[in-house]
Amino acid sequence: MDEYDVVIVGGGCAGASAGFFLKEHRPEMNILMIDRLGGRKFDHYHYMCGEAVSKAAFRQLYPLTPEHVIHRITRVQEHWPGGVTMEARVIGYVLDRAKFLRSMHRRFRNRSGELCNDAAIKAEEVNGKYVIHCSSGRTVKSRYLIGADGAHSRVRQEIFRAEPPKIVWTEQYVIDKDLPKDTIQFIQGERYEGGYRWEFPAGDHAKIGFPRGTDTVTEDVLEMHRRAIPIGGLDQLTKGRCLLAGDAAAMPNALTAGGIRSALLSGKAAAEAILWDDMAIYERWWNSFPLSYPLFLRAYQQFEGLTDEEYAEAAEPFRRGTTPLNYLKARLTRPRFRDVYRAYALSVLYGW
Ligand SMILES: Cc1cc2nc3c(=O)[nH]c(=O)nc-3n(C[C@H](O)[C@H](O)[C@H](O)COP(=O)(O)OP(=O)(O)OC[C@H]3O[C@@H](n4cnc5c(N)ncnc54)[C@H](O)[C@@H]3O)c2cc1C
Repeated sequence: MDEYDVVIVGGGCAGASAGFFLKEHRPEMNILMIDRLGGRKFDHYHYMCGEAVSKAAFRQLYPLTPEHVIHRITRVQEHWPGGVTMEARVIGYVLDRAKFLRSMHRRFRNRSGELCNDAAIKAEEVNGKYVIHCSSGRTVKSRYLIGADGAHSRVRQEIFRAEPPKIVWTEQYVIDKDLPKDTIQFIQGERYEGGYRWEFPAGDHAKIGFPRGTDTVTEDVLEMHRRAIPIGGLDQLTKGRCLLAGDAAAMPNALTAGGIRSALLSGKAAAEAILWDDMAIYERWWNSFPLSYPLFLRAYQQFEGLTDEEYAEAAEPFRRGTTPLNYLKARLTRPRFRDVYRAYALSVLYGW
């Protein structure tokens, strides 16, 4: 049985980032990254995402920089019931995420990281080490295990026996629609059951998505996919020397569903905990990181119960702009939406 210092299950944003940062600091480490998808299936899986990530996310990820940028985003627009449009100037990117991940994989392999196309079907702890059984019949052993295998994480199920607090099923369509290339747009309303409809530029096309079954698109559909977004975080992110990262740990922001940033950052934080051989570093990082605040899930749950009239009432103070003064007025005059306002303000900074 092959033995490694670290096995990373999943080569998406969380797993690729963990491999990148481990090799960045300790190139001699013996690391295996396994992903069940290879070639075009891998590309297709990672294309089914809005692929939007803020510039702020990369401030904490140096020397990882945004690569394969398709669009430079400068504006976020929110359309609310009652005809209020909120706008924020936020710099970010729509990436070609599959290429971006492949670039991280390349750097991992160039430092003698091993990447293999296989699926983990079973993981167990045996005498203080992790044994991972793969669908090819291969079995590997490691001192550390990172579960970065997405929403339906096998590592989470096998080692932690835990499920995310909430799963939001979404559908996303790739259509021919000419959207502004510098803007990502969100449409709020009771029909989205706590979520929203998003409209993002995607090269010559547009990506439009919403919680499953809540809306439709009228344009010709080039591609459609359904995918789960786990939200709400987990109580326990480490067990022994096993760590969960990204969607496997239900880290996407409950309000915005943005999960690329938390996946990339959790991969980096998991790498740091392993380099220091101190798993508590990882738990501390997550508990002090604003994206872990229960406030976001509370705000999501409040949105779930709002009618269009209540959405309009919450948005009214921002009819003349999302200035700090209007924010203050909103909090003072509509105290029952206080959580929603606070979560929204934080989401501008940390949501994606
Ligand atoms: C429709 C949609 C749109 C989204 N848009 C955005 C957006 O615009 N911005 C944003 O920030 N977030 C967005 N998100 C959320 C974001 O896509 C995820 O939070 C992010 O991909 C999480 O990264 P991850 O590496 O944790 O998991 P994943 O991206 O799911 O990667 C997991 C990897 O593990 C592999 N894997 C799974 N099981 C196994 C196994 N048993 N063995 C081996 N390998 C395995 C998979 O093949 C995959 O490559 C969106 C999500 C959806 C569903």
